Amino acid sequence: MNTKQGLAYNGEVRFFIIDSTSLINELNTINQTSPVAIAALGRSVSITALMGLMLKGNDKLSTTVSGDGQIGKIIAVANGQGEVKATLSNPYVDIPLKENGKLDVSAAVGNGYLQIVKDQGLKDPFVGQTELISGEIAEDYAYYFSQSEQVPTAISAGVLVDTDYSIKSAGALIVQLLPAATEETIERLEWVFANLKPMTSLLQEHDLDAILSAVFEDDFETLKETEVKMVCDCSYQKFEDGIKMLAPADLLDVKKDQYAEVICNFCRKEYKIETRNL
Ligand code: ZN
Repeated sequence: MNTKQGLAYNGEVRFFIIDSTSLINELNTINQTSPVAIAALGRSVSITALMGLMLKGNDKLSTTVSGDGQIGKIIAVANGQGEVKATLSNPYVDIPLKENGKLDVSAAVGNGYLQIVKDQGLKDPFVGQTELISGEIAEDYAYYFSQSEQVPTAISAGVLVDTDYSIKSAGALIVQLLPAATEETIERLEWVFANLKPMTSLLQEHDLDAILSAVFEDDFETLKETEVKMVCDCSYQKFEDGIKMLAPADLLDVKKDQYAEVICNFCRKEYKIETRNL
């Protein structure tokens, strides 16, 4: 299983962790992304996948990182069963590295906001939105949790891109304080996160259990493991229905050809929709 969730520090905090290396490699292949684009997309998807696991089975959520940088929008969708899909406006964004040689994710993302929409089967979905405070993704999601959901949260997320543009390692860790958390636990956690190695280095050297042991000094209990997978729910029918909803003039235009060719934004699958049925 590529994720684990559970309790730590005497049950005073809960954690969610993912090794998303193969998942992000798959996304990288589907989208032909540049290194900085897959770093931003990969961080966002890894965190969104873990947020999905906070939901009940059929509930789902979507996260949109919307900055004024060259990447444009990063959209990720996840549910409680570990299914995720994701897309971004500009997979080819190419900007100079930071002075320290690292990918400049915050410059590629820019200033803007993070929006979370949760569909929990109620009449209206829950919508929460906060500003992007750094554009480095993990901090932006942590800020969302503390501001919009009032849950003090620490997040570490990373994607390491190899010289051949494949993904060497990727993952995320979310730790949240439960209401019973003592001042001592809060301070301990702050210290641990301040001294935590990047997720990408941890994942190259250790499995999830070893990382959790190091982070929580063996004081943790895994309650659930889920295999997170890339799953797209697109279909011929969905695209056909979508075209039928076009304005009459546009629909007439589409029907001039025998087929309408569409490509799914998420999985890049191509559909040839027969226009005589529209
Ligand atoms: Zn699709």
